[in-house]
Amino acid sequence: MYQVLEKAKLIWEANSELIDFCHIEGSLLSNNLTPTTTAGSLLVTKAEYRASKKTIPLIQAIKKHAHEARWLQTYSTSEVGKDFSNRHCYFELIGPKGHFYNDKIRAFICYWGKHLNYKWHSHEAEELYYVLGGQATFRTMTVEKVLKAGDTQFHKSWESHSMDTLEEPILAFILWRGNGLNKLAKIDE
Ligand code: ZN
Repeated sequence: MYQVLEKAKLIWEANSELIDFCHIEGSLLSNNLTPTTTAGSLLVTKAEYRASKKTIPLIQAIKKHAHEARWLQTYSTSEVGKDFSNRHCYFELIGPKGHFYNDKIRAFICYWGKHLNYKWHSHEAEELYYVLGGQATFRTMTVEKVLKAGDTQFHKSWESHSMDTLEEPILAFILWRGNGLNKLAKIDE
């Protein structure tokens, strides 16, 4: 998982939006998490992602080390449906319960399969999406736009947002900061 952290840091430290949102100082201690799988996590390595020169090294590291990750799902099947549960998963790279410990921020690697609707949801922590590969339509109450590799999207505390993946899976690097860091997102619909 160190390789994933190193490649993520390279993107982070070269992107002013990511740095301005939050940054980490010094080295991070490993939480020595035990790997887990979910239905969707097995799809992460199989997918091909339309990426950019900057994001390819991190995508390759994620695929190579996917079997070391503690893959999780945020929602129950009754909240989001079986198809979403089967084709969405994430792991916490950095954070209180992440592969590398930090109590001020969280960094996630998230995967969604193609043609999935991520319902309107919100969370107290502020959030910055950075798309690594694939494309999706992102929505807030005021903005709707298609994001691709290298694009970012900011969400304020409790700002409701939704997403539709297009004809390809999407892989994203997501940062959280501020109050509610330890809480999960909740579905608003
Ligand atoms: Zn969010």
